[in-house]
Amino acid sequence: MMLIHRHGSPCPFCSTSDVRPSRPRRLEWLLGLLSIRPHRCRLCNLRYWTLNLRTAPRLLLAVVVLAGAGLLLWWMLTAAALMGTPG
Ligand SMILES: [Zn+2]
Repeated sequence: MMLIHRHGSPCPFCSTSDVRPSRPRRLEWLLGLLSIRPHRCRLCNLRYWTLNLRTAPRLLLAVVVLAGAGLLLWWMLTAAALMGTPG
């Protein structure tokens, strides 16, 4: 299960702050580029990811905003096309 939480937040399962950074597996270092880092809870052993908004690259934010705007535009065009279809 993919769980992404705010950086510095406690364990999402047992709410303890006794968590430690986890070593990224395989392609997880790519997430590190997005300031998403794996952590593991010492109590319940749950592995989850945190997103550090402070260090999240602004470029990424711009990409997300542009992607959202593109998606919205696509949705509007699709809706317009559907409305224009008779029947
Ligand atoms: Zn826990």
